Amino acid sequence: MGGSELEHVRQAFESNYIAPVGPQLDQFEESVAGYVGGQVHCLAVSSGTAALHLALRLLDLTADDEVWVCSMTFAGGVFPVLYEQSQPRFFDISSESWTICPELLEDALKKAAAKNSLPKAIIATDLYGQSCDINRIEGLAQNFGVKLIFDSAESLGARYQDRQCGSGGDFAILSFNGNKMITTGGGGMLVSRDRLAIDRARFLSTQARDLAPHYEHSTYGYNYRMSNIAAAIGLGQLSVLDERVRRRRTIFSRYRNALDNVEGIEFMPEPNWSHCSRWLTAITVDPLKSGKTRDCIRLHLLKHGIESRPLWKPMHLQPLFSGSLYVGRGLDERLFANGLCLPSGSDMSDGEQDEVIQEIRDCLNGE
Ligand SMILES: *Cc1c(COP(=O)(O)O)cnc(C)c1O
Repeated sequence: MGGSELEHVRQAFESNYIAPVGPQLDQFEESVAGYVGGQVHCLAVSSGTAALHLALRLLDLTADDEVWVCSMTFAGGVFPVLYEQSQPRFFDISSESWTICPELLEDALKKAAAKNSLPKAIIATDLYGQSCDINRIEGLAQNFGVKLIFDSAESLGARYQDRQCGSGGDFAILSFNGNKMITTGGGGMLVSRDRLAIDRARFLSTQARDLAPHYEHSTYGYNYRMSNIAAAIGLGQLSVLDERVRRRRTIFSRYRNALDNVEGIEFMPEPNWSHCSRWLTAITVDPLKSGKTRDCIRLHLLKHGIESRPLWKPMHLQPLFSGSLYVGRGLDERLFANGLCLPSGSDMSDGEQDEVIQEIRDCLNGE
């Protein structure tokens, strides 16, 4: 927690607005809209996954529709495609940014357009706090008439040129899960410039109740709304977001300064258009150059009480999606084989980080 959360929660208790509405909820939505900018409207919901589900539901997908997604991501950024009974097609990332590759997308869109089989939507994921190449992907989506959703669950606080992540496309989604840049103890946000779409999503997120004194339903909805109490926590968290981005970038730089000269260790790149939040510091380990595998380092750290994790396992490699369509050259597969996320929490001390660095050095030196 950042410090002011309890005060916002106290105000919520005093007003006796707990759920499903309340002044803190309105204020949280307005504050996030103001933060990401671009004249957007926001709907606060119970998770990032729920926000993505609502965005897809609004697109009226059918079983014949494809949704093109980045393969290297967290499952919550893909499962809603299945909730809507549609077919995901998975795309590789670019080496420049580790986000969905615009060249692969463009090529596939051209081929699909020629066969009159364009996807209904693209979900472009900002990975580990790094923005996608927003302008290029927005341009492609516009040219081919495909809906575009940015999954900015990991990138709140990051920027693309002078635009904040979480505001582009037809929709963007954010997550306030406990492990993200800021948390509401579980929550998410649907963001769009289209006010009517946000109104419709609000209706669906509160059980699709038609206007009537009794309960009247002409379609089905969900119980996805964020509570006023969770939003109060979010208000406090927003005030420390920029500070956390600075801290995580510092943590990244400290790792890089300490390990950059080590043969075989590479850091996640940052293209000149990106100001990455460095949500997690991600590295790759080339065992031929460093003499140690990623898992040697991971297990060495674990033995010393330090948790680290492989990068996301690409979705096209998951048993659930075996046999699904994949467009790429396997860069995501190589990152999964050799990539490691290092401890990156904003509240980690320099001393704790130095310990992690020392253990990595010890492992590489065979100690
Ligand atoms: C965390 C995350 C989600 C899902 O958010 P939840 O709030 O956990 O439901 C979706 N996509 C990505 C890329 C994520 O990291």
